[in-house]
Amino acid sequence: MNALVLTDIGKQHHGTPPVVALRSVTMTVGYGEFVAVIGPSGSGKSTLLAIAGTLERPTTGVVEVAGEPAGRISDRGLSAIRAGRIGFVFQQFFLIPAMSALENVACGLLYRGVPAGERRRAAGAALERVGLADRAQHRPGQLSGGECQRVAIARALIGEPAIILADEPTGNLDSAAGAGIVELLAGLNSAGATIVLVTHNSELAAAASRIVSLRDGAVIADSGAKTPHSNAKTPPGGTKTARSGAKTPSCDADGQEGGHV
Ligand code: ADP
Repeated sequence: MNALVLTDIGKQHHGTPPVVALRSVTMTVGYGEFVAVIGPSGSGKSTLLAIAGTLERPTTGVVEVAGEPAGRISDRGLSAIRAGRIGFVFQQFFLIPAMSALENVACGLLYRGVPAGERRRAAGAALERVGLADRAQHRPGQLSGGECQRVAIARALIGEPAIILADEPTGNLDSAAGAGIVELLAGLNSAGATIVLVTHNSELAAAASRIVSLRDGAVIADSGAKTPHSNAKTPPGGTKTARSGAKTPSCDADGQEGGHV
């Protein structure tokens, strides 16, 4: 089983004339891979990531995340796939300003039916993984951009997703902070995390073990899957969907979805 399988993905946006964002993209990502998707602006990178993350549905083709085909699933079912299998990281961090770093990270487990105490314990461990154990009680406004992105990465990691999808994770950072994030992502991959990111940052792309180049909505080059790290693992969060019928736990982040609040 692979972490992500995209088969013959096409995406057309409505409009006059319609915009073809992706045309027949096929791509398989194995567990433990670190893939950078690069290409000029408008080539379809963000659309590809959104479709891989089941945030958008493709016009044609099939998306499979950790063995689960996303095609005929209801929106509610897709939310469960996202909550259980995918960790998102965005350029803009999307942290909740009124919450501490710990609470922001704990929100990554909101839709997994995990009790509050366990969410906080896991959040502490995730902050430690990104080197921010000593900033747990800080709010985003009290943290640097690089630290905010570390918090967002910890939130993406907390549920041990099958795959982490990141859209320009260094795009809002100065070069020193960006380099720290590159190092962090490379380290997480060495420890077994599967990562697919979209970037313009050549250092970040160079840290990846595979580069997929897009142009005009099509893959024009793929350096191919290299042997993933020997400790690549299928995370527990990647093999099950969110508990059906799990109560929505109380959290200040009402209405926010776990993993990409
Ligand atoms: P990239 O991330 O490589 O810059 P995008 O995936 O954002 O590219 O966009 C690919 C193409 O699809 C572009 O031509 C863009 O203008 C178009 N596009 C993206 N989203 C929409 C949308 N919601 N409606 C219409 N066109 C869109």
